[in-house]
Amino acid sequence: MINIKNGTRLLLVTALWGANLVGADGYNPEAIKSGRVDPSMHLQQGSNQLEAQKINSVIYKATGFGNTFMVVTSEGNVIIDTSLPSMAPKHKSLLNAVDDGPVHSIIITHGHGDHTGGVGLWREPQTKVIAQTNMVEFLHYQQRLKGLFMQRNSAQFGFDLTSPTDASANESSGVNMLPTTLFDQQLDFTLGKEKFQLLHTPAETYDALTVWMPEYKAAFVGDLYYRSFPNIYTLRGTKPRWALDYIASIDRVLALKPEILLPSHGEPILGNKNISAAMTRYRNAIQYVHDETVRGMNAGKDVYSLMRDIKLPEMLNVGEAYGWVSWSVRGIYEGYTGWFDGAPANMYAQSPQSIYPDLVGLSGGSGKIVNLAQQHLEQGDAVKALLLVEAAMAAEPNNHAVLTMRLQILSVLRNASANLNETGWLTHGINQTQQNLEQID
Ligand SMILES: [Zn+2]
Repeated sequence: MINIKNGTRLLLVTALWGANLVGADGYNPEAIKSGRVDPSMHLQQGSNQLEAQKINSVIYKATGFGNTFMVVTSEGNVIIDTSLPSMAPKHKSLLNAVDDGPVHSIIITHGHGDHTGGVGLWREPQTKVIAQTNMVEFLHYQQRLKGLFMQRNSAQFGFDLTSPTDASANESSGVNMLPTTLFDQQLDFTLGKEKFQLLHTPAETYDALTVWMPEYKAAFVGDLYYRSFPNIYTLRGTKPRWALDYIASIDRVLALKPEILLPSHGEPILGNKNISAAMTRYRNAIQYVHDETVRGMNAGKDVYSLMRDIKLPEMLNVGEAYGWVSWSVRGIYEGYTGWFDGAPANMYAQSPQSIYPDLVGLSGGSGKIVNLAQQHLEQGDAVKALLLVEAAMAAEPNNHAVLTMRLQILSVLRNASANLNETGWLTHGINQTQQNLEQID
């Protein structure tokens, strides 16, 4: 089902959105500010690429969500990341047009579906699939929660991002995703005259790796760097992503003094001066958010206050087109403490929403709530308006005026959004509300 939806969406997207809006660089904050944001922008990336991008004499790139890299060696090619299943065939044909020699190895920078999607397509009988050792557990974790992730990926992105691991998934995808070669901290090998060093650089996931080619000072960093504040928490759901891991891993890459930085999302950065400036700023932005969160926690501040108050200083403002600082603040806070916030009422298996119908009744009914929501919306406080409508919905889930107001508020928020993940969830909410309205009409 997802594949069909995916294919249709890809065509639709290409038709509806000019590639200029996102350009070659997926999370270009300036481009996103100038146009309407839509989660389908993910799938525009690379849609108008006609030939593989040559990085140097041996490294080539196909652009997408995410990118696929190929290193040509005299003993066979090395593929680094393989994009989504829907993008992999195009990437393969672009890269095969450069060199269609045997595939010696596929290196996966981490086990997310936008990096593993083309493994089955690229893999030949002799091909090694190389990953950091934690990837096996990470793939099983995604598989264990497959039902949940399918729903939440579809809401956030419009497509699924998990990697298949088990027998049933193998039947449908024709591939056993599990890697054949694993390493813990570092793996070095040479093919022909090309030297590869694989380094464990955990960040977004605990299985993340960087491929370092010392000869060219080229670092393939996966999702350790992209052009937005990182998703230290992703709304689709994740185990804690440790801010201090990002910092240590970025330091590890910076210490190599790379001249070519090849992220799996967005464009390469060339020249150590540029790489160092971009990655140091990025690292310091993460450090700032982490340290301010910890300081606030120790001062006894609650998570919502910190989500509101912690803002990047201008010199560290790396943009929030993909990750969002306030989600990361909460991710760091609850990563350290877990869910309990210290309020006695929250120890019990009774949700705050369970008393909303009582409150709505006392206020004189959902009509009054809708009027108040309208006032908040007019005064520019769409989030307060949305919270009121959620209360009214708890009391009267099928009330036409309540649902119509919800639709209006979500649309206002979506039109103001410059963040791809926020937009994904607002679009999901809009679709759900429209369905609810159709059902009661
Ligand atoms: Zn990715």
